[in-house]
Amino acid sequence: EMFGQLTSGLETAWNKLKGEEVLSKENIVEPMRDIRRALLEADVSLPVVRRFVQSVSDQAVGVGVIRGVRPDQQLVKIVHDELVKLMGGEVSELVFAKSGPTVILLAGLQGVGKTTVCAKLANYLKKQGKSCMLVAGDVYRPAAIDQLSILGKQVDVPVYTAGTDVKPSEIAKQGLEEAKRKKIDVVIVDTAGRLQIDKTMMDELKEVKRALNPTEVLLVVDAMTGQEAAALVTTFNLEIGITGAILTKLDGDSRGGAALSVKEGNIADFLKDKLGEPVSGKPIKLVGRGERMEDLEPFYPDRMAGRILGMGDVLSFVEKAQEVMRKEDAEELQKKIMSAKFDFNDFLKQTRTVAKMGSVSRVIGMIPGMGKVTPSQIRDAEKNLQNMEVMIEAMTPEEREKPELLAESPVRRKRVAQDSGKTEQQVSQLVAQLFQMRVRMKNLMGVMESGSLPTLSN
Ligand code: GDP
Repeated sequence: EMFGQLTSGLETAWNKLKGEEVLSKENIVEPMRDIRRALLEADVSLPVVRRFVQSVSDQAVGVGVIRGVRPDQQLVKIVHDELVKLMGGEVSELVFAKSGPTVILLAGLQGVGKTTVCAKLANYLKKQGKSCMLVAGDVYRPAAIDQLSILGKQVDVPVYTAGTDVKPSEIAKQGLEEAKRKKIDVVIVDTAGRLQIDKTMMDELKEVKRALNPTEVLLVVDAMTGQEAAALVTTFNLEIGITGAILTKLDGDSRGGAALSVKEGNIADFLKDKLGEPVSGKPIKLVGRGERMEDLEPFYPDRMAGRILGMGDVLSFVEKAQEVMRKEDAEELQKKIMSAKFDFNDFLKQTRTVAKMGSVSRVIGMIPGMGKVTPSQIRDAEKNLQNMEVMIEAMTPEEREKPELLAESPVRRKRVAQDSGKTEQQVSQLVAQLFQMRVRMKNLMGVMESGSLPTLSN
């Protein structure tokens, strides 16, 4: 069972929520501790675990109740989505050259499965109808050249070799020329690895890369490496510049740390220390899951997260429920607006939604075209929201539901002003604003119904 220990570690977290009604700040403390422990035991680095746990707790506390969905199921979904994000979100496809052969340069330490990947990759691409050629660039181990030749025969792909006396960059160039002559679609170049990162290896890789101008430079990483994978990716990327990684031996008893560390890893932290600037991580493009030539497949972050959690049915169930919920929410709001029932409770709910999403500045930052709002404008808006909340809290439940009461009675407005420590003018403004909002929303809905504006779909 891949990442079995991580799966069962996370299971203890869900189990602690059985019998709870909702997710709360209090009842997620224990489960979050379990999640943290499970990730650390899977060999994910501490900074990554911290960020992960923080993000999951924030979302868990803010999540609304969905009818029929238990809190433990909601937490599973939140953790799933966060795992997907951690592993890069979308699947990252191989890139092919627009014209001429696509050159894929493979780099990596010794023993990680680089030579095997060469042949597996050729086999994989051949099935997509691409002609391939392998180039034996590992000149230090004659056995490596033999191994590549044997594997090449096995998958029925030509292998370019030039013995051990020619420089790797020269072999690479010759191989590429040969591929061009033969109109080969993809050239896959094997290079020498070392047990450790060293300067000679990096210099040689740089030279090979210069000679080839490859479309893809993929770092082959052994899944057993754990969180060290992040540092490897970072170092190779800084030294030679890579386009992605291939994770091998996922069928072994690796704990999962590498799969979870390559994309985000400690890259951001590491580079901040080194260069003072954050740089995004590199995606895992393919994974090796066995010794057979067929055991190479694209890396799908969502499927991987699903496998880790082992709860595909729960995930799709929560997704469906969320969809229904979004629709019901929207419908309820629409009904309220149409019947002009939008009151101060709704007003408050809206401002709190904004607050829950983070600061106003963050929310504004997410709206396209709103990037030019100045910090002082944002501060004003934030202050404004706070003032509104204080005033609404000073209203009686009846006043919140029937804003007309406030509109009609200066005495009530005066009381609200006194209780909230705001001026009567501020209270009057707030009341006026609510009625304006009703009108605006009603107009907007009218426009939507008449079809001149597209209605928002889920
Ligand atoms: P290189 O030194 O990086 O070229 O590594 P090799 O390609 O020679 O592979 C080293 C060993 O790892 C070989 O015994 C391979 O069969 C094995 N290997 C490579 N990929 C995988 C994999 O995905 N799963 C398993 N179980 N073994 C693998």
